[in-house]
Amino acid sequence: MYVFLNDMLVPEPEARVSVYDHGFLYGDGVYETMRAYGGIVFMLDEHIGRLGRSAGFIKLNIPERDFIRATVYKTIAANKLSDAYIRITVSRGKGPVGLDPELCGETTYVVIAREFSPYPKSYYRDGTKLILAKTRRNLIGAINPKIKSLNFLNNILARIEAKERGAHEAIMLNAEGLIAEGTVSNLFFVREGVLCTPSEETGILDGITRGIIISLAKRNGIDLEEGMFRPADLLSATEVFFTNTTSEVMPVSRVDDVKYGIG
Ligand code: PMP
Repeated sequence: MYVFLNDMLVPEPEARVSVYDHGFLYGDGVYETMRAYGGIVFMLDEHIGRLGRSAGFIKLNIPERDFIRATVYKTIAANKLSDAYIRITVSRGKGPVGLDPELCGETTYVVIAREFSPYPKSYYRDGTKLILAKTRRNLIGAINPKIKSLNFLNNILARIEAKERGAHEAIMLNAEGLIAEGTVSNLFFVREGVLCTPSEETGILDGITRGIIISLAKRNGIDLEEGMFRPADLLSATEVFFTNTTSEVMPVSRVDDVKYGIG
């Protein structure tokens, strides 16, 4: 496999990053995950846009949009991929130990791509099990969840809870106890015929798939509420699903001990 590293494609074994890279030392960097269908990257401009917003939050310079677009397609072509998983990572780069971002010279820019391996069909047919995690989502005023950063420990802690309880994904509440999002996904549920999803003010990543679902709902005249919800609201839901780039729309058959119909 080939990896795009900084300014060129290199064979994967040669794609090495310094142990002094601040992405490795401090999680100082941002990333995006994308999917290609038949060689075309879905919502590429939206992903590049969000990468830019994430980078802006942490005052990190990233390459120009055209460069990113070109390198993504070069990586797909070099690996002869059609249905692919693609990840762009930009870190602060190599520098002496210390938090000051100015210690680093050039940013490290990486594009990896591999064949997409789909989730089992049974997940879509029978639904998945979710749990409500004890781990709360990061505070907007601490590490804004809108930053898709290389520091994913908040989400990893919740994912450990999910694994320990035999669940596929964990739902995280924010510090006020409002439903926020999954560890790598946004949550939707249907209550009294209304499609509900936590609003951005709860402190979530503004998922690109979430945006598509919201615009499809609006276009199709489906009642939609982007709001502030508590776990009790989920108890009275008749249908639950989560969304993200790799899963698309994944039905949920259980949250903790509550069962839902598969819509
Ligand atoms: N929330 C979090 C925390 C995520 O990591 C992701 C995956 N990027 C999402 C939501 C879903 O976003 P998207 O639909 O853009 O994949």
